[in-house]
Amino acid sequence: MKVSIIGAGNVGATAAMKIAADGFVNEVVLLDVKEGVAEGKAMDIMQSLMMTDSNTIVIGTTGDYSKTANSDVIVITSGVPRKPGMTREELVGVNSKVMTMVLDGATKYSPDAIFVVVSNPMDTMTMMAVNYLGKENWRKVIGMGGMLDSARFEYNIRMKLYAHYGLGKYDIVAKVIGGHGDTTMVPLVENATVNGKPLTSFFTDEEIADIVEKTMKGGAILTKMLGTSAWEAPAQGICETVKMIAFDENIPVASSVYREEYDLCIGTVVTIGKDGIEGIFTMKLSDETKNKYNASVEAVRNVNSAL
Ligand code: NAD
Repeated sequence: MKVSIIGAGNVGATAAMKIAADGFVNEVVLLDVKEGVAEGKAMDIMQSLMMTDSNTIVIGTTGDYSKTANSDVIVITSGVPRKPGMTREELVGVNSKVMTMVLDGATKYSPDAIFVVVSNPMDTMTMMAVNYLGKENWRKVIGMGGMLDSARFEYNIRMKLYAHYGLGKYDIVAKVIGGHGDTTMVPLVENATVNGKPLTSFFTDEEIADIVEKTMKGGAILTKMLGTSAWEAPAQGICETVKMIAFDENIPVASSVYREEYDLCIGTVVTIGKDGIEGIFTMKLSDETKNKYNASVEAVRNVNSAL
């Protein structure tokens, strides 16, 4: 399997490292517009692989899309991240221009690839890719964001369990659907479980509200701490998405996908396998959650209208 990552910044280069270190693909190509950066990152990653069992080859290129030819998966992490105080939606102008350039270059050499879109505002950038490839090819476009937001939801649950009970082994299942934005994401509290039990078995209403708030602001909290947006967990989300394609895993995860009924891309519980999006889960939601999801759909539509 060949994976090309367009944008060798914090998220792209870290994803390359994680994918290469896991050794499940033959080749990773990193492409960036900044002279020498992708080549340097690729060389550094390759040298680190020499200390592992991985046989993956990582190469870097400054803008030469022919090196990405015949990729099975193209990951798009190019563009600008947010700075403290910014929303993801504010990036739409600059990143949509980058997106058009990247789609032109990548599809020329890998017309049949599955696209994993990461650049923000992610739901809108994912819709751009769907429009570019044609809506009939929607299964080949996966927006990575819901997996990260779900991991942040699970993290906040985990840390509260730790505060209450200390160390322990917990099976936490918690998903976030809706838009990948501070105010648009919808953590599915009613479906979240710890060792098969609902959150109400472990936490008060106030504690659950705190978990939800910290999940929704998770990206902004980290951006304030780091001065730029986070990269380790986003890169892990990319690595897991590529693995689901490589191993035809088909386990339920939250990702942004094209939903015909709304005519836009939005976080949905889906299964991902060798052909991209394999299935869409229609979940039983309370009226309150349905209303939040519908509001999220309209918020994403509003950002899409800025294109
Ligand atoms: P970064 O600034 O570290 O890296 C971005 C890279 O893109 C830079 O190296 C830049 O040179 C490159 N680039 C710019 N224009 C390009 C072009 N036309 N072609 C190829 N490369 C180009 O930023 P980052 O922290 O890696 O974040 C990348 C993007 O991912 C941002 O838009 C950020 O908001 C987004 N992000 C999304 C998620 C998510 O969950 N979906 C999580 C974190 C970050």
